[in-house]
Amino acid sequence: MDNVLISASFNEDQMHELIADLQILIRQPSISATSEGLEQCAILISNMMKNAGIDSELLYLDIEDQIESGITKQVPPVVFGEVKSKSNPHSKTILFYNHYDVQPVDPIEKWNEDPFSGKVVGNLIYGRGSSDDKGELITRLKAVEFILQKTGDVPCNIKFLVEGEEEIGSPNLSDYVRKYKQKLDCDLVIWESGYVDKDQRAIISLGQKGILNTEISVNGPSRDIHSSLAVAIENPAWKLVNLLSLLYDSKDGKILIDGWYNEVKPLTERELQVLADEPFNEAAFKKEYGISNFINNQKSYEIKKALALEPSCNISGLYSGYTKKGVKTILPAVASAKLDFRLVPEMDPKIQFERLINYLRAKGFSEQEVSIKYLSGEPAYRTPVDSQYVKLVVNSASKIFSGVILNLSSSGTGPMYVFKDILGVDSICIGSTVLPNKMHSPNEFTNLDLLHKGTNCFIEIINNFSKFPGNMSEEKQ
Ligand SMILES: [Zn+2]
Repeated sequence: MDNVLISASFNEDQMHELIADLQILIRQPSISATSEGLEQCAILISNMMKNAGIDSELLYLDIEDQIESGITKQVPPVVFGEVKSKSNPHSKTILFYNHYDVQPVDPIEKWNEDPFSGKVVGNLIYGRGSSDDKGELITRLKAVEFILQKTGDVPCNIKFLVEGEEEIGSPNLSDYVRKYKQKLDCDLVIWESGYVDKDQRAIISLGQKGILNTEISVNGPSRDIHSSLAVAIENPAWKLVNLLSLLYDSKDGKILIDGWYNEVKPLTERELQVLADEPFNEAAFKKEYGISNFINNQKSYEIKKALALEPSCNISGLYSGYTKKGVKTILPAVASAKLDFRLVPEMDPKIQFERLINYLRAKGFSEQEVSIKYLSGEPAYRTPVDSQYVKLVVNSASKIFSGVILNLSSSGTGPMYVFKDILGVDSICIGSTVLPNKMHSPNEFTNLDLLHKGTNCFIEIINNFSKFPGNMSEEKQ
């Protein structure tokens, strides 16, 4: 049987319904940092899916999985949604990954409106979660609902995974994906968000960096002591400064730890081309961050490359001694630094951590003097730029947006590797969040015209995805 494809697109009346549903979601606080309203929001979304004709249920982890040091953790549920194609039952499956949790609203006094108002002003809708990620979620739900209403079917199998802990680093996502591996089985993941630039070009991003978070502490005397003793007793803060200077050459931006770059692969011709084609407004970037030069006086091309593809070594916190008002002449007992290292594909956070320890021990920093703690880590992942699905998403987005920009990887970190590791599938970021935006900040908003385009883009993606030959041999669960 031929699949039912749809040529119509989302109209203004349907946009009114989309806005009303988005307001319902924004008005339900769902803050993962404080656990406020999470399950209520999950139930709301699950019911919205059911009303749209999408089968939905809430998934939970086993109680045993949630007990840590004898305390039962409240892990918020994952909302699962599924629509099977009647006309194309053996089609490939597309999975939309989103999250229903939001960031806290502080500082609340900086908001012009109630953060959970969902107020519409002109082309903008305001509120926590309006763009990150309830606005993105609603475009996907409405695209599927629209196709179901128009055709009574979907042209390919579609799944949803909407988690409630993205804003706190998705600590249980891999456990969920592992536990519900069969249920979540799919061929492509459409990532939770994506950007649109000021010229209304969709930025399709294919990867996320990994991260290694560490804390290094240098121990000195048994307590903070009188600073007159600095002629006799070594100050741990000096020692820490010396240690840090051995990790990174801040002039040329290179990490000095032995073996750090071993897994970094050279770029292919095609990747180099994508990088060269990606626009980068050097002047605007410098203005935004109040800087006059990049590290090592690098130019746009090198900076684009570094943002997407190079590992970093960053000091995110440095603390020792007396740092308040006035003078206090002490020699501190301890000096510490927090460091985050962004990683690229094939770098394993645990192996990199071992390399850091080995390097510092070899430089003479003993275990008694210097403690090096692993705080957390996540690997990177990058969908290959020549994947057939990248082409599909690019072609679909080109029809809806005024242009398309390919980006090899975001400079940030996220759990994309979880889907590759456990389900073996690639992920592509495409969405409707304008750049610059106020995600995570007061007065978060999203653009209604972009929500409209986003919805039409997902209708197009679903249509085009259904044209891929299905998995005839294997029965989909
Ligand atoms: Zn966010």
